[in-house]
Parts: sequence; C-alpha cells; structure tokens
Amino acid sequence: MAGGLWVPMSVRAATSAVVMGAFLAAWSAGAGAAAPETRAADDFPVASDVRLGGDETQTRLVVDLSAKIDIRAFTLANPYRVVIDMPQVTFALPPKIGEKGKGLVKAFRFGLVMQGGSRMVIDLARPAKIERAFVLDAANDQPARLVLDLATTDREAFMRTIALNNRAPERVLRKYEPADVEVKTNGDPRPLVVIDPGHGGIDAGTRLAPSDHPEKAIVLEFSLLLRDKLEKAGKYRVVMTRTDDSFVALADRVSIAREHKAALFISIHADALQRGEGEAQGATIYTLSETASDAAAARLAEAENRADVIAGLDLSAEPNDVADILIDLAKRETKTFSVQFARVLAGELKNAAKLHKEPLKSAGFAVLKAPDIPSVLIELGYVTNRQDLKSMTSEAWRVRTGDAVVQAIDSYFTARTAGRASGRN
Ligand SMILES: [Zn+2]
Repeated sequence: MAGGLWVPMSVRAATSAVVMGAFLAAWSAGAGAAAPETRAADDFPVASDVRLGGDETQTRLVVDLSAKIDIRAFTLANPYRVVIDMPQVTFALPPKIGEKGKGLVKAFRFGLVMQGGSRMVIDLARPAKIERAFVLDAANDQPARLVLDLATTDREAFMRTIALNNRAPERVLRKYEPADVEVKTNGDPRPLVVIDPGHGGIDAGTRLAPSDHPEKAIVLEFSLLLRDKLEKAGKYRVVMTRTDDSFVALADRVSIAREHKAALFISIHADALQRGEGEAQGATIYTLSETASDAAAARLAEAENRADVIAGLDLSAEPNDVADILIDLAKRETKTFSVQFARVLAGELKNAAKLHKEPLKSAGFAVLKAPDIPSVLIELGYVTNRQDLKSMTSEAWRVRTGDAVVQAIDSYFTARTAGRASGRN
C-alpha cells in the first residue's frame, strides 16, 4: 500500500478513477454516447446559454451548445421533473440561471453526475409531457441547440407515461458490476474502510451553507485528509466514494462499500439549522434506525436523502434479492457494531472537536443501509454556526479531528479483533 507516501491529489484522483470508470461504462451503454474520460475539460461541448419561452400550456427550453450531442429525456414524479441526460458538457451559463423558471418550468439545475456524463434536471410547475426533445445541428449563424418542448397534462397521464417508459433510468446508472471494479486485495488482510464524502457535483449539500463553503467542499476536504491519515497509519485499506467534485448516487455509495466488502463505512456531512430554529453547535454521529431518535434527526435524514431527488434519481426501487430473514440477522449484528463504533467515536471526538449536546442519534439515512457493513454518518458541525464553520474550514481543526477519527477506528478494530467470536471481520 502507498502507506506513508504523500501523493499529489491530482494523481490520487486519477488512481481512483477506476471506481468512476464503472459508472462511465454503464453510462455509455445506457446513453449510447461515448465520452472518453481522459479528455481535458475544455474539450467537452460547452453549454453557453439557456432560454425559456412560452406559457403555462406550452413551454420551450433551448440550450445553446458548441457541438451537437446525444440526449435522452425522461420524466420523474414526486416532485414532477424532466431529466435530460447527455455526455459530459461544460456548463458556462450565466450565474443564477435556472433559479427562476417560466411557464411549465419552475426551475432547473445542471451539472456533472458522473465522469463523462452531465444532466439537466427541470423542476416542473405542474405535470407536463415531453412533446419533443432533440438537438439541432449548427446552421447559418446559429449554434447547435438542444430543444425541449413541454405541454401541460394531468397527473394521471403523467404517471401513465412514467409507467410506460418503465425502463427505470436509475437502473442504468446503478449497474455496478463487481467485474467492472478492480478490487486489488491481493490477499491483503487489512480491514477496508470506506470514506464517503457527502453530496458532490450537481448536489452541493445543504442550501444554508455560505456559497464560498458549500457542504460538498467542506466534507470532501475533511475526507481527503482522513484518508491520508488512515493510509499513513498503514493498518487499513481505504476506498473513497468520491475524490473530486463528482455526483455519486446514494445507492452507489452503498454499492461501492458492498462491492469492496468494507469492514466499516463512514459518511461525512455537515449540518445546518434554519434561522429561528435556535442555536445548535457541534458534531453529531448517526447510526441507522427505522425510527428516528427525534424530530430533528428525522428531518435531517430526509434532507440528506434528498440528494437523489436533486440529481433526478429516485431511490424507491431497492434491489431485494436476498431472503429477508438473512438480511434481518445481518442487520441486527451490523447495528450492534455500528452503535459500538459510534460510541467509541464520540469518546474520541470530544477531545478534539465540540460535540452536539446529544452527540449520538439515529435516523433512516439511505447511505447507512448496507445490511452487512457497520456504518455511521458524521455531521461534523453546523455550517450555520459561525464557530463551527470557522472550525470546519480550518486546517488545525481538520487535523485534530481527523486524528480523533483514526484513533476511534483503531480502538474499534482492536476491540473487535480481541473479542471476535465468529470469523467475520
Ligand atoms: Zn449532507
């Protein structure tokens, strides 16, 4: 293992492109578009403007493009959305574009959802059908243009269209075959820890974070430092669910942990509190539970689980291929270990960082749902609290807190090795 060697971030990002490569393969197969991931960013087609026209019965959305691309458009419900998938595009659009819509379009967002693949998600003001979605060649002095024509419809017709186009788009994205991933264990017996920086790409995390410190950036920076510390310790193998500003679907985060047979999964997030909800401060550690420990925990889990709504993916169809009773048994054991790790972690963290007054909670976070991998989610602090934000964006705090997490991981695995009754790791 690279162990004590510090490698520049760009190189590391390239080595873990192996994980994203699987997504790219799935993407290309699904969209029929090949987008070599090695191209420089400025080689990608550029979207330079978006215009909306029409009214509440018919609305047209036009995107100016530097080159013709293949697209695929489909609808999703709850909330009503149109999703347009395309090969990787550089969005060079005016600031704040998409925040306000027109006619049937309430708002839209856009971004990279995986290496080689971009997406526009259009929030609809009401149910609408896609009348046309196509890309025009550049002609005369007009650039290439993506055109989406929407017409009003009712909920029943909208839902029927979704049922008919039942080629669940998320299935394509989630096709995460073990064979696609090089799991280089080489008989390496060290436990594998998955670090999962929340959000990324099109999903910036909590909207209450200041724009110069989005949640996705705060948690990535901490996660990269934690990875370096863990690798340096030499006792663990480490896999990240993302190493750059890419979108990773919630289910894929869990799949990555399962495909790598992780011994521990740690998701990293930062919390936020609306004005008027009081003052909260400090770190909180969450484990999975069907029933949330309190209303705030339930609300937070709902907010964190919204990532897939933001990117246009729906998480409703979970694969269900193992007998329920086996899952139940594994889940019970996994829960015990998750709670054990959470307690050890709280004990270590309190020496390094400020903890929330109730630092151990539980709720239904989608990323904690691997039935066989002890998993916790750390909310490092509140981006809406000045002191917390100052801490989370300071190198000294990150180093101290990262050390505490490594210490907790050490204690947890030491205890498990010592007290192991079964052969599981
Ligand atoms: Zn988050």
